[in-house]
Order: sequence, then C-alpha cells, then structure tokens
Amino acid sequence: MPFRAPLTNHHTDGTDCPADHKHTSSGKPLHPGCPGRAYTQAICSCDGWEMKQTGKGYVNESRKRHLASHTQGPKALRDLLRLDGS
Ligand SMILES: [Zn+2]
Ligand SMILES: [Zn+2]
Repeated sequence: MPFRAPLTNHHTDGTDCPADHKHTSSGKPLHPGCPGRAYTQAICSCDGWEMKQTGKGYVNESRKRHLASHTQGPKALRDLLRLDGS
C-alpha cells in the first residue's frame, strides 16, 4: 500500500487553513476571519515522518523526497524505524 503525506496549511494557533481560504500570491488572506497562513505541514501515513515549515515549496519538496524513499528502500526505512526503538 502506498504511503501518503498530504500537505495541509495552518494558522498561527494550529487550526486548519483550508483550501477555501484564498490568499494573494504574497500570502495575504482574502477570506474574512482568516488570520493568515502561518505554516504548511505534511505528515506521512508511515507515522515516521512529519514536517512543519513556513515555506510551502520546501515542505512539498521534502515530502516528495520522503515518499520516494519509501518506494526506493522499504528495508532501509525498517532499519531506521528499528533504530528509533519502536
Ligand atoms: Zn485561513
Ligand atoms: Zn513515510
């Protein structure tokens, strides 16, 4: 089963900033009541990876790289998780 690591956007207080909260290209909120997008987060369904950064492009890049590591080396990841002590 393929892993998934969807990108989600959040406000400063950690609540979701859903897709219908539109922003200008410079990141200013256009939705009434939206305090603005503070960070982008991606959590992988493998439970072994997550990332939280202000740069959406950076999170997306890292996410793709992480997902690629699943398809390239499932054994390497198992070793990694074992080192984690779980
Ligand atoms: Zn919002
Ligand atoms: Zn993963």
